[in-house]
This record gives sequence, C-alpha cells and structure tokens, in this order.
Amino acid sequence: MKIVVIGGGWAGCAAALSASKMGGQVMLIERTDMLLGTGLVGGIMRNNGRFTAAEEMIAMGGGELFELTDQNSLHRMIEFPGHRHSSLYSVARMEPMVRSFLLSRGVSIHCQVRVTDVEMADGLVRAVVAKQGDEALRFDGDAFVDGTGTAGGPANCNKYGNGCAMCVLRCHSFGGRVSVTARAGVKEMVGRKGDQIGAMSGSCKLLKESLDPQIVAALNQEGVVVVPIPAAKILKGKLALKCCQQYAMSEFEQNLILLDTGHAKLMTPFFPLDLLREIPGFENTRYEDPYAGGIGNSIRFVGMAPRDDALNVEGVANLFCAGEKAGLLVGHTEAICTGALAGYNAVKAARKEKLLVLPDSLAVGDAIGFVRRQMREEGILSLKYTFSGSVYFERMKTKGFYTTDRKQVEQRVGAAGLSMVFAQH
Ligand SMILES: Cc1cc2nc3c(=O)[nH]c(=O)nc-3n(C[C@H](O)[C@H](O)[C@H](O)COP(=O)(O)OP(=O)(O)OC[C@H]3O[C@@H](n4cnc5c(N)ncnc54)[C@H](O)[C@@H]3O)c2cc1C
Repeated sequence: MKIVVIGGGWAGCAAALSASKMGGQVMLIERTDMLLGTGLVGGIMRNNGRFTAAEEMIAMGGGELFELTDQNSLHRMIEFPGHRHSSLYSVARMEPMVRSFLLSRGVSIHCQVRVTDVEMADGLVRAVVAKQGDEALRFDGDAFVDGTGTAGGPANCNKYGNGCAMCVLRCHSFGGRVSVTARAGVKEMVGRKGDQIGAMSGSCKLLKESLDPQIVAALNQEGVVVVPIPAAKILKGKLALKCCQQYAMSEFEQNLILLDTGHAKLMTPFFPLDLLREIPGFENTRYEDPYAGGIGNSIRFVGMAPRDDALNVEGVANLFCAGEKAGLLVGHTEAICTGALAGYNAVKAARKEKLLVLPDSLAVGDAIGFVRRQMREEGILSLKYTFSGSVYFERMKTKGFYTTDRKQVEQRVGAAGLSMVFAQH
C-alpha cells in the first residue's frame, strides 16, 4: 500500500509514522528543508488537558512522538498563568530527532519538494505532482493525507495580517503552502471572526543573548519568567487577534510572559521593538522568530477541509486530513493525535477496510467529533479548540476527561477496546 503524506508538520509526521506502522509504504513530502512546520518554533506540550490527550495516545500505542518530545524537554511540570504541568521541548533539537526516528521506521522523506497539484480519476486522488527546484515530480499512491496546515503564503499574511513577518515557514524561499484538499476540488472552510479572516499566530521568539543576563538565568532555571508591562506600554486588543484562545487572558496582555524553549518564547503575537526595548531588561532585544516580530506574525486557519470523524475528506474516499487542515484545532498535541488517526485510516482505506472512528468516551475522539460539529452543524468558525484551554478544555473538565492519572487513562482506553490500536501491526 502506497501512502503519500503531504506536509511534514507534526500532523504529517504523525500520519507518516502511523501509516508506516500499519505496513504502508510511506512517502512524506515537505516543501521546506526541515520537518515540523510551525512546530519548529512551538514547544509547549502537556499543558492542561494536553497531558490527558498525550496519555490516551500512549495507551493506544500511538505515543512515540510524545515520548520524543518528553525526552527532548528542557523543562517539565512547569506552571504559567492558566497552565499547569507543562513541558517545553528544545526547538533547536526537535527536528533532527523526529527526522531520524521516522527514517528508522521506514518513512521515505522528501524535503524541498512542493506539491503543486493532484491527478484525479473516478473521484479519487491518483497522484500528486510536485516540483523540486526545476524538476517535475509525481507521486502516485493508494491513499493520501493532507497535512499542509493552514498558514501562508505571504498573500494571506499581507491581506489578513500586518504583512509577511518572515516566519519559519519561509514562503519566499520555498514557495507558499498549497492545499491538496483544495486542488482535489473540495471547497475548504475559512476561519473568521467578524472582519478578521484566519487568525494571527500567538507567540514570538527572542534571542536569549539579547536579553538581560538575570532574565536569562531565571528563564534557564525556572522555564518561565513573567515581567509586568508598565501600564502606558500595554497594547490593548492584541488578544482578540490570537489564534491560541487558551492564552487570550489578561495576564498575557499585562505581562511579558517568557518560556524557555531554547529561545525565549514571548507569549504575544507581536510587540513593537521600540516599545519592547523601553522595558527594563529588554533594552537590546532582538527577534529570532518571526524575524519581523515587532510588526506582526503569520496568519493561519485560512483553509480547512470538510471531513468526517475518521478524518476522511468529504467527497474523496482516499484523501484524509490532519492537524490544522482537519479543523480549528490548535497545537502540536492536536496535530499528532489527528495525524496518527489519519495515517491509520489511510492504510485502512487503501485496504478497503472499515475506517476507525475514535469514540466520544475518549478526549481525542470527542474533540475530533465536537470540532467537526461546531464547524459544520453550528457554523462556528470563530473559536479555536485545544486540549490546553478555552472551550474544549472546559468541555474536557465537564465530561470528566481531564486527569493526569495514567492508570485512569489506560483503563478508559481499555474500556473502549482500543489499547495499543495504533501499535505496530
Ligand atoms: C509561532 C507559533 C508558535 C506555536 N507554539 C505552539 C506551542 O508552543 N505548542 C503547541 O502545541 N502549538 C503551538 N503552535 C501551534 C502548532 O504549531 C500548530 O497548531 C501545529 O503544529 C500544526 O501542525 P500541522 O502539521 O497541522 O501544520 P503546520 O505546522 O503548518 O505544517 C504544515 C507543513 O506542510 C508543509 N506544506 C504546506 N504546503 C505544502 C505543499 N504543497 N507541499 C509540501 N509541503 C507543504 C509546510 O511547509 C509545513 O511544514 C504554534 C504555532 C505557531 C505559528
């Protein structure tokens, strides 16, 4: 079974791994020179309900990528406003670890290959066509996973944001995102809030070397530093722009909240450099990501696939979606969970077997179904969903899903009959 995964973010990596464990011959195609996509600048794991979701995946035999992020964590069990038991992976070391792990599991990785179109026949995707430099390539397959995310190209950031801020997706160098779902003729959904199309990414990274040594020492020691912003310099209204609703709390407007992911991760979409440099300890600050973090950030959630709860894209029986492409689901954990299911079901579809839908007795299954219903039936495209806060974390608590007790999670997964379902077949 040939499975082609397009997009090497966390969702695509998880899909490729899962499909390979199921016995698929997997090709993972990524337009840039590195895997992980926006995960190259993220790092926060296991905060709030993400802990439970990660443990569900481990109990289902789909936990390898969580084990890698755990191994590569600079800080564990830290707290910052609204968030408990978080870990922070080193963004510098994560990509090579994931790449060599996937290679060791038999995934064939094709970087600097940008998919530009699909070939369809009888309502199915037969192949994707791509470019590597000037060379035209073609990848045929039995089933496909769209993990191309929802950010870029620069036209979206120009139109709906403050312009290209030169984020890690590096569209000018590697070409903009191309959605496989859209190329397959499926009408995508667009996130919007009032006049805002999509949403702005919610954090920047500062070069540690440009910060006051005392701040750096505290950051290295504790993993988190909170610096109050003088009242006159507080920028009101930025929280509404953010796609990460779990951080849309007044603490994140009134303070500079820094997290240590190797760089100093600043929990705000952007902050004018001259204003930042007026705050004690930040006089020499320089942005590491996005390079123009003083003026803006990337715009995401502009193209999501209509899909069912098996993550099958509506109307194309052999096309699956994962991560942000699968809906208004924000986060690495969310991308890994949906990626694992999409990769598993891609192999099932190729074998013409029944697709797996995770039950709503599990947080991961409930989230996949809940987000689909919110988007399709209730038409709510302004909210974002994550295990780590806001609407979906509240639902997790109400439904009694949220726990850090591993045994309890194992029992829940066992009761659903899904222990080790994603393990090697
Ligand atoms: C600045 C920032 C900080 C964040 N911090 C955190 C955090 O700390 N913790 C957390 O949990 N979440 C964080 N997030 C959110 C999280 O990164 C994403 O929600 C999640 O990782 C999305 O994964 P994805 O694989 O769906 O998409 P993406 O990460 O967008 O990956 C999509 C990939 O597809 C590739 N691609 C696109 N089109 C093509 C094509 N045509 N051909 C080949 N390849 C293609 C892209 O190059 C990219 O690598 C952050 C996001 C940003 C932007």
